[in-house]
Amino acid sequence: MSDYRIETVCVQGGYTPGSGEPRQIPIVQSTTFKYATSEEMGRLFDLEASGYFYSRLQNPTCDFVAAKIAALEGGTAAMLTSSGQAANFFSLFNVASCGDHIVSSSAIYGGTFNLISVTMAKMGIQATFVPPDCTEEELNAAFRPNTKAVFGETIANPALTVLDIEKFAKAAHAHGVPLIVDNTFPTPVGCRPIEWGADIVTHSTTKYMDGHGAAVGGAIVDSGKFDWMAHAEKFPGLCTPDESYHGITYAEKFGKEGAFITKCTAQLMRDFGCTQSPQSAFYLNLGLESLHVRMARHCENGQAVAEFLAAHPKVDAVTYCGLPGDKYHALAEKYLPNGSCGVVSFELKGGRPAAERFMSRLKLAAIETHVADARTCCLNPATSTHRQMTDEQLRAAGVPAGLIRMSCGLESARDLIEDIRQALEAV
Ligand SMILES: *Cc1c(COP(=O)(O)O)cnc(C)c1O
Repeated sequence: MSDYRIETVCVQGGYTPGSGEPRQIPIVQSTTFKYATSEEMGRLFDLEASGYFYSRLQNPTCDFVAAKIAALEGGTAAMLTSSGQAANFFSLFNVASCGDHIVSSSAIYGGTFNLISVTMAKMGIQATFVPPDCTEEELNAAFRPNTKAVFGETIANPALTVLDIEKFAKAAHAHGVPLIVDNTFPTPVGCRPIEWGADIVTHSTTKYMDGHGAAVGGAIVDSGKFDWMAHAEKFPGLCTPDESYHGITYAEKFGKEGAFITKCTAQLMRDFGCTQSPQSAFYLNLGLESLHVRMARHCENGQAVAEFLAAHPKVDAVTYCGLPGDKYHALAEKYLPNGSCGVVSFELKGGRPAAERFMSRLKLAAIETHVADARTCCLNPATSTHRQMTDEQLRAAGVPAGLIRMSCGLESARDLIEDIRQALEAV
């Protein structure tokens, strides 16, 4: 499938049925798999043979879909997780443990910020947050001898900053650690971070990949490019024998291409069990089949709504990297030449009270804690997803208290603009 263009991979990647086999990905709704002998099964437990034994670790439906996402991102291996949160946690915890440190962009999803700054801190993993547009000097200064990874979002939710992936990759690699990029908003249709130097790519598949608000899920993709063994002293989990797996050394046995995902499955999925159900993976795949068609319309509608808002006298500021005046327009032209996403954020003159009045008047755009859906929705992050953050943290994350985030769906742009126009009249 890697020889085909991305549109073809969206439709047909990951699964090629043989003669007489189902055309659509079969839902293997089975927790367990049968074997004729204990020896056969033992080889699977020892990671000596590949195959299925228990769906907490691996399931054929999930693997078909993971293979499609790996192909879409241009990676060598991938796995599905129960949510985007699980994907980001696993991707970081697979390389960092108690006593370690990570460097992260400060402009990230509120849930990920909480995961890194509070929950992982409780596990003994410290973090330094840097603004996405920091200088190379500032970025390099954030590293410590025990830094194990760098993290950022291609397009940050909800700040809509665009990550200079090459700058972050260069700094990460200069310090011998991988760059992990959450590529949820652009999806591989808009940007393939691996081509710009990212080592690991994560997704909340709950968003555009599913695209219909049907199933929560996540994915992790390995580029297969990071040379763990070249930095073996930093990554003992990958480069020294795993006693919980009969002394296997992942980076030796599975190489650059397979070590990260194999360890993440064999250890973290085994122990934490954040598995995606085969049923959810099936829904996710239905979404992926039209991802390339939908993303084009999401971007078109986002652009039209952003342009309308930017020209409206009651609107104070619009953030959308597709607007020529946007702070991230130049980075978007480099990393997102085919469009960014359907999410636009803006502030009304009159701040938080005006935002509340405006949102309550919208008819098509529903108030939802969700983005990247076929149906347009909107949200005031300060009172919802980012509720646990202080005003200072909100500002640092690029999410002022009066900000409205609107996720433009697949409806007619003219209807969306009409809806916004009538709601603005009430403000
Ligand atoms: C939603 C989101 C997440 C968390 O994903 P869930 O599937 O809700 O757990 C992580 N990163 C980004 C960029 C998101 O938008």
